[in-house]
Amino acid sequence: MRHSPLVQNLITAFTCLPGVGQRSAQRMAYSLLERNREGGLQLSEALEAAMQGVSQCQRCRNFAEDVLCPVCADDRRDQALVCVVASPADVLAIEHSGEYRGRYFVLMGHLSPIDGIGPRQIGLDLLEQQIQAGEISEIILATGTTVEGEATAHYILEMIAGTSITISRIAQGVPMGGDLEFVDGATLAHALRGRRPLER
Ligand SMILES: [Zn+2]
Repeated sequence: MRHSPLVQNLITAFTCLPGVGQRSAQRMAYSLLERNREGGLQLSEALEAAMQGVSQCQRCRNFAEDVLCPVCADDRRDQALVCVVASPADVLAIEHSGEYRGRYFVLMGHLSPIDGIGPRQIGLDLLEQQIQAGEISEIILATGTTVEGEATAHYILEMIAGTSITISRIAQGVPMGGDLEFVDGATLAHALRGRRPLER
């Protein structure tokens, strides 16, 4: 039996979610159609509103619904202290540690030339502009311990050559190849306090 066109469209649409193949997509579509039409409609409204209304902060690239995200718009935070992370989930993890009073720069990925992801794709041109404009006094690299994370950290280290920016790295307590979002708040707080200046 083939699905009718609308059902097939819905199943295909669900397969855009990470980790969702044909079978899971079919299960989701059937579940909504069989017994949760209201939930399905709410989902579609929330999806549309978020896809159209959420953009990126012009200073840090994190998700934002205004020109600046709440962290960049907050003058009580040290706007010259910048923690560079790979994803918005890392921002949340560090915020939960309660330890950090600076702002962020969110790459939304890592350098990965093999996958065609160069410096511009992860916003490093914007970070470089902020460095050149003298907006940053300290950078904390929290790009993770994967090969791509290391490569990204190295690239940023080269970018600040010739400036007086202090640069450090949090790695202590962060598992090899690990994502920050899976590290608990106490460990992250400890890692932030114990950040080590980098040789340059
Ligand atoms: Zn921001």
